[in-house]
Amino acid sequence: MYICALCNGFSQLKPTCRVCGHELEDMGKVSDYFDDYSAYMEIDQLKLENGLAHDFQQHQCTHLFYCVICHYEGLKSIQE
Ligand SMILES: [Zn+2]
Ligand SMILES: [Zn+2]
Repeated sequence: MYICALCNGFSQLKPTCRVCGHELEDMGKVSDYFDDYSAYMEIDQLKLENGLAHDFQQHQCTHLFYCVICHYEGLKSIQE
């Protein structure tokens, strides 16, 4: 069983927006938002853009982070 510290509230990650520097909100697991095949293709694209393609097959929980100021969205993989 794999446990994501963010999903379970053990820890909080507060990355900053790379566009405006504001603190990003953790929107939760990406898989909660995208659950059909075409959406996963989109995630693959995002991962590639973020250099996270290698994480896809690993036991990691990918979270969506959102900037309320400039609406930047980013993905971050959390080691489970
Ligand atoms: Zn998680
Ligand atoms: Zn921002």
